Amino acid sequence: MKLSQIGEFGFIERFSKNFANIPTANSKGIGDDCAILPLDDKNEQVVTTDLLIEDIHFLRKAISPFDLGYKSLAVNLSDIAAMGAQPTSSFLSIAIPADMDVEYLDELMKGYHELSNKYNVPLLGGDTTRSPDKLVINVCVMGKTAKGKSRMRSMAQPDDIICVTGPLGDSAAGLKLILENIAVEGKSRDLLNWHNKPEPAINEGLWLNKQEGIKAMMDLSDGVASDLKHIMKQSQVGATIQLEDVPMSEALIYASEKYNWEPEALALAGGEDYRLMVTIDKTKSEKIITEYNKHFPYRLSPIGRITQAKNGEIEWIKKDRPFELTKEGFNHFGH
Ligand SMILES: [Mg+2]
Repeated sequence: MKLSQIGEFGFIERFSKNFANIPTANSKGIGDDCAILPLDDKNEQVVTTDLLIEDIHFLRKAISPFDLGYKSLAVNLSDIAAMGAQPTSSFLSIAIPADMDVEYLDELMKGYHELSNKYNVPLLGGDTTRSPDKLVINVCVMGKTAKGKSRMRSMAQPDDIICVTGPLGDSAAGLKLILENIAVEGKSRDLLNWHNKPEPAINEGLWLNKQEGIKAMMDLSDGVASDLKHIMKQSQVGATIQLEDVPMSEALIYASEKYNWEPEALALAGGEDYRLMVTIDKTKSEKIITEYNKHFPYRLSPIGRITQAKNGEIEWIKKDRPFELTKEGFNHFGH
């Protein structure tokens, strides 16, 4: 059997049940943005790790070494943000092609340092080794929350309002510019910038986690259409999304008109947004949204709600009519 037949999540399911016999000592593992481990009487530790492989996750010619270093840490910090946690340390392992210039690596580490410095995350170790020809970067980040306060995907409840912490689709559009070899100009530059140098929502996650009424939280790495299903599965709930409420940047609208892209499909089925998706008790959501918008540059936008339905499908609605999401984008049902 080929891996493509069962996919990444099928593979994880296949082996994870075999580990169930080993006691986890009050830790929670596979299935959330981070693992959660007991730390002391008052706190718990969260841990995440991510792998970036040249030509799979990035093209060396399409991203500066500085941005690549920044992004390698950012995607991991985003998982820490998704738990509502404070990052505390990072570990970096890197496999380097033998012919690589030291100056390239210096720039890569400058980018990694800039983001480490921004959130006060010390680099505490890792490994370096030689690679036959591709650059491989693995980062592990640890973080901390008050005991029992990590926001898990299993915490959503029917009637919760689903919100996102910023416009969606910019990164997917940035990737399209790269893959379709489009000369970047004007507002399109923002799309490429967010793709190459996303900003993890650490402060947003910490703030949200302090509010009463916050339930499930995760970061958007694969797009709402795929990521929301994790919350639905873990929380045993359904979800409905209002397409006209999905926030999109001016840059995405501009580029979509210019290149004839479908912005909604990029916003909901594109990946690497690294915004947070959070579900909020409906009686608290209005107040939280108002307060949030006083603190942060991007608005907290309600895009739908959690429902009782357990059929595993997201219900997409536009102007009171159901829509269908296909590989090509969105289609009306029935015509
Ligand atoms: Mg994640």
